[in-house]
Amino acid sequence: MLNPLTDFEPGMLVRYHGTLTEHHGVYSAHLCTCRRCDHPAYGSGRFRLLDENGDVIVSCVRAKSITPEPVEDDTLPDDEPDQCPECAATVFDFDPNHDDGISIGPAWLCTGCKWGVRSVGT
Ligand SMILES: [Zn+2]
Ligand SMILES: [Zn+2]
Repeated sequence: MLNPLTDFEPGMLVRYHGTLTEHHGVYSAHLCTCRRCDHPAYGSGRFRLLDENGDVIVSCVRAKSITPEPVEDDTLPDDEPDQCPECAATVFDFDPNHDDGISIGPAWLCTGCKWGVRSVGT
């Protein structure tokens, strides 16, 4: 469960595991400000969950129905290649512990052909 007093920041990622099982997943959480939830002193004790498009998926969610989602690698290096020289793909996965047969270290891997390049950014 999420502790609304200590854990909550607007827009944080949370995993929803409440009663609406078809909506289980990860969303950004905002305070619910509907009339039902709004509280003059504390604001809302409930949340609304938005998908990546900013659409509200679930409203009036109790804190016990959501859990903060650990942020994965907030700090990806900014030296992601623009394009793969091998297959011209433009999508890369960052692997912090890539083993290229010589050493292990951070690398960008082409999602198309698995071409990889060492990342030097931190
Ligand atoms: Zn509400
Ligand atoms: Zn490639």
